[in-house]
Amino acid sequence: MSGKNVNKQTHATAACDSSSTQMSPRWILSNISKDVLKEVEAIVDEEGELTENAMRALNSVFGSVLERAIAIVEKPDSVCELQSPFGRKLVQVSGTSKGVYTLYPEENYCPCEAFHYFVLGANASELTCKHVLAAWLARILGEATQRTISEEEMTSLLLTLLVSDDSKSVVPNSFEPTAGDKL
Ligand SMILES: [Zn+2]
Repeated sequence: MSGKNVNKQTHATAACDSSSTQMSPRWILSNISKDVLKEVEAIVDEEGELTENAMRALNSVFGSVLERAIAIVEKPDSVCELQSPFGRKLVQVSGTSKGVYTLYPEENYCPCEAFHYFVLGANASELTCKHVLAAWLARILGEATQRTISEEEMTSLLLTLLVSDDSKSVVPNSFEPTAGDKL
């Protein structure tokens, strides 16, 4: 991989305006970053680790977010994959300064403040946050803890997520993340 810069041509907002032609951050992750993520996953499958080439590829896309994501993955039990008996799945990632963030597996969305500001905000500058990337890295590296929870617990967590999802549409542009919880 050459060290090409991430293409930050979009400043997509969280607006749900279906007539907008702006690309959403999720679209970007799906169509650009995901190619790199899949490529890296294949390398890890084959080599059993994040090789130098894989790290270079990730760094070219995610920049400093990668370093913070790896720091999370390296902390024991910081990423937990939850599964219910019916097969519903969620991932929980420990934050640096706050509690635990609950994410949809392989979805580019996180309820953390940094995601709202740096990925969804008016001056968005990143493709994702450290929690989303940490969840993905932990999965491919086999570092995620596995836990089975009841359907009731799963439903309760999903409802929490829906509330988080709704909140993103009312985050003001001047919203600032707390100092200890950067991407
Ligand atoms: Zn996050």
